[in-house]
Amino acid sequence: MFENLSDRLSGVFDRLTKQGALSDDDVKAALREVRVALLEADVSLPVARDFVAAVQEKATGQSVTRSVTPGQQVVKIVHDELVHILKGDTDPGVLKIDNPPAPILMVGLQGSGKTTTTAKLAKRLKDREGKRVLMASLDTNRPAAMEQLAILGAQIGVDTLPIVKGEDPVQIARRAKTQASLGGYDVYMLDTAGRLHIDEELIAQAAAVRDVANPRETLLVVDGLTGQDAVNVATEFDDKIGVTGVVLTRMDGDGRGGAALSMRAITGKPIRFVGLGEKMDAIETFEPERIAGRILG
Ligand code: GDP
Repeated sequence: MFENLSDRLSGVFDRLTKQGALSDDDVKAALREVRVALLEADVSLPVARDFVAAVQEKATGQSVTRSVTPGQQVVKIVHDELVHILKGDTDPGVLKIDNPPAPILMVGLQGSGKTTTTAKLAKRLKDREGKRVLMASLDTNRPAAMEQLAILGAQIGVDTLPIVKGEDPVQIARRAKTQASLGGYDVYMLDTAGRLHIDEELIAQAAAVRDVANPRETLLVVDGLTGQDAVNVATEFDDKIGVTGVVLTRMDGDGRGGAALSMRAITGKPIRFVGLGEKMDAIETFEPERIAGRILG
């Protein structure tokens, strides 16, 4: 998942740990390479710069370079700083679903993995927490997308709101809410329409649905392979709709893991889950420690 960045960084750190005695200049030279590796992994420039500056401040000076294992100490500082950037205040895997039926709004661009993620999360809530979940597709422009959700629902044993032709997304959201209340569901998930690009209509529609549903969580699904674009998409959705968390999909691919770093640092939004494949169980809670470990190889 982080092969490129990982390889680059382990190369830098291998040399550093083998070197034995280190001067501040050695550390600085290594951190310059770390900066290049981060940029190549699609970490944005300000994030890479701040990251390296923070590490440099802690890693240069007598206590590290004069220690018995200076290289390892630098690696630990880098690790801790990665975790620091990636960590939010929220508990990533815990969704706010008190006061049933709790609405969860799913937003994102077309092809990001939104529908798949909706079903994966519904299955998770059902299997792990015994929740009764209702899913509804609001993608009135794409009947195939609505059917896709119904098929996934049948596959994982989660109910979907019956499709009624001619309704608009707000009407569907209202019907989902009513159905969720009457049917005694704990959670209802609204899978909003996606488009290839963010445009006014997409945002207006998502905002109208948000105002009707008053979601407890608004999760933005973004393709982790799109790197810096994913961060731009997140910034825009958050400005216009307000998101409570991000799900990074396709983290099973050989994507450049930098998106995760920049996502946290730039948008300030916590990454809650990562998608790790097409199967319905291929989703995990985002764990900063683990991701940092993987980045460092
Ligand atoms: P949507 O248009 O945003 O609703 O996207 P879909 O949910 O239809 O997903 C588009 C494609 O991406 C499908 O073929 C999914 O199986 C696939 N997909 C979704 N999430 C992941 C993931 O985490 N990893 C991989 N490898 N594929 C994924």
